[in-house]
Order: sequence, then C-alpha cells, then structure tokens
Amino acid sequence: MSDLSAQRLPVIRCAMCHKPVDRIFVDHNEHMMVIDITVWCHGDTDKMQLTQKFMAEIGREGEQQIFTRGGVAFQSKLLTEAPKELRHA
Ligand SMILES: [Zn+2]
Repeated sequence: MSDLSAQRLPVIRCAMCHKPVDRIFVDHNEHMMVIDITVWCHGDTDKMQLTQKFMAEIGREGEQQIFTRGGVAFQSKLLTEAPKELRHA
C-alpha cells in the first residue's frame, strides 16, 4: 500500500465554483483497501474513491499529482485532470 496519510489532503477544486472546495474529508478504509474522499461545497457534497487498483494504475507520479496539482470535484467520480471545457453561464 502507498504511504498516503490523512495528513496529506489532496487539493480539490470545485468544477462549479472554480475554487477549492470548502471542506475535504479523507477516509482510509484499510479493510477495503480504498481511500474515500468526501468534499463539501456550495451546500452539496461529492464523493470519490481511490481504489488500490486506481492508485496502482496511476503510479507514484499520478499519486503525487493528485496531492500537488489536485483534482476536480462535482464533475466526475474519479479525480481527473482540469476540465477541458468550462461553460460560461
Ligand atoms: Zn462549489
């Protein structure tokens, strides 16, 4: 397993507000070997799950990327790259 720790919170932006989400909760489920991430923003919540398989696929570099460059919430179930298109209301 990786050395991800609860102290190292990922940087997650809201795809709707275009700013970091208000609150991030990281739950390490060691039994299921997954990391559940719950974020709160604009009165809503979004959940994403980092499975061991996903972490193995993205490797160390991808893991570093999540914790440095961050992910986007309220867009996808998985942490993704910055949105390719942002519609202007
Ligand atoms: Zn938001």
